[in-house]
Amino acid sequence: MGAEKDISGLFPWGNERRFNAFPDYFRRLYGSRMQKVSVDAGFTCPNRDGTKGTGGCTYCNNKAFNPSYCLPEKSVTTQIDEGIKFHKKRYRKVGSYLAYFQAYSNTYAPIDRLSELYYEALNHKDIRGLVIGTRPDCLNDEILDFLKELSKRCILLLELGIESCYDKTLLRINRGHSFKEAVDAIELASSHGLNVSAHFIFGLPGETREEMLREADIISGLPLISVKFHQLQIIKGTRMEEEFKRNPSDFEIFSWDDYLSFIISFLEKLNPGLVVERFTGEAPPRFLAREVWGKKRSDQIIGLIEKKLEELDTWQGKRYNGVMA
Ligand code: SF4
Repeated sequence: MGAEKDISGLFPWGNERRFNAFPDYFRRLYGSRMQKVSVDAGFTCPNRDGTKGTGGCTYCNNKAFNPSYCLPEKSVTTQIDEGIKFHKKRYRKVGSYLAYFQAYSNTYAPIDRLSELYYEALNHKDIRGLVIGTRPDCLNDEILDFLKELSKRCILLLELGIESCYDKTLLRINRGHSFKEAVDAIELASSHGLNVSAHFIFGLPGETREEMLREADIISGLPLISVKFHQLQIIKGTRMEEEFKRNPSDFEIFSWDDYLSFIISFLEKLNPGLVVERFTGEAPPRFLAREVWGKKRSDQIIGLIEKKLEELDTWQGKRYNGVMA
């Protein structure tokens, strides 16, 4: 028996939307919509600097995901000021902002340096908290204890790039860590009382659609607060672009209709307690080696997914049989 509506027609996450949406999570907890403002604080990554590897993940080009106002030469404060100005034009209803340490691995530095950067963000008058993106192997007890203390003073979400639940894929995309290491990091962070979010990519080479669908069961059992999903985008200049040119049949490149139907099936199996932040990535077209789906923006995509859920009278967790997160 999966998740059901209650007597007043509300889903387990407390509203009539057919999935457990990220903006509603913040409204429930803090009474207003939160907007993330990206910051590039000039970190690097152990999969690039030689500690774990040198080439990085085969799909990686951080420039493709960094907004234009994000440049590590600018101070954290300047990036936040410019980011807020940018978002104010687009979203009038934003209540507060979270500084999103997004580029590369944002816990990959000594504690003193992390503290200096995070507090610069928190000292900004419009910032209510932090979202810290990092790799599973860039955490340890010292960093987690520090984040735990910080989380008593502000909203804090730790975002881990996991990408796939399969070691064969993680090896192939040169992530430099196994799925077990990712699960251990999620469990360790969660045992420190931190809110942990995880990021996954659908369409990585060598993975079948059935294998991707099975990830819903695996992810549903992890101690996560929220999840982000992206379709694979092949970015110009990456090693994956070369691989794709050599062997395109090894990639499950979704058409929009296929992706929509995949996401609906995936959502039906997903733990209804997990907050879903994204269903798609949105790299600017100039970075894409292969453009797909026309010019659909992420908010339009959410609208189309909700319309389909309505048409099929289905919802997140309808076919989920485990314990709600
Ligand atoms: S861990 Fe992140 S920053 Fe490092 S190479 Fe992979 S995708 Fe790029």
